[in-house]
Amino acid sequence: MNFEYDDQNIFARILRGEIPNKTVFENDHALAFHDIEPQAPVHVLIVPKGPYMSFDHFADAASADEQVGFMQAVAEVCRITGVTDGFRAIANTRTHGVQDVPHFHLHILGGTQLGRMLPK
Ligand code: AMP
Repeated sequence: MNFEYDDQNIFARILRGEIPNKTVFENDHALAFHDIEPQAPVHVLIVPKGPYMSFDHFADAASADEQVGFMQAVAEVCRITGVTDGFRAIANTRTHGVQDVPHFHLHILGGTQLGRMLPK
């Protein structure tokens, strides 16, 4: 993985309004939208607005305001999508985590029984 932020990645383009998205929630620091290929009845991606490549990069480099704003977006998405019976939050990261888009995003998956986290 390239360790320089690529500002042409698809989520950067969505954040700039160059590509449409189905927005679920937005605040000053995060945008949440429906995944284009949903893998569960609820499948929402939450992305920070800043140029962070991965969860650990965001945790390391984002300001306190950005981190709080992101977490508030997580709470709002859970409320809006009504995943009261539970959900899974996934942050695929770099090569071992099979991350396709190099802009940090949290998947929120729910609306059904999801099975075990990883195949045994
Ligand atoms: P990851 O493997 O964690 O990087 O997953 C990237 C996710 O982004 C996949 O679930 C894709 O279906 C999703 N995705 C790719 N392009 C778009 C798009 N234009 N709008 C919404 N979701 C997208």
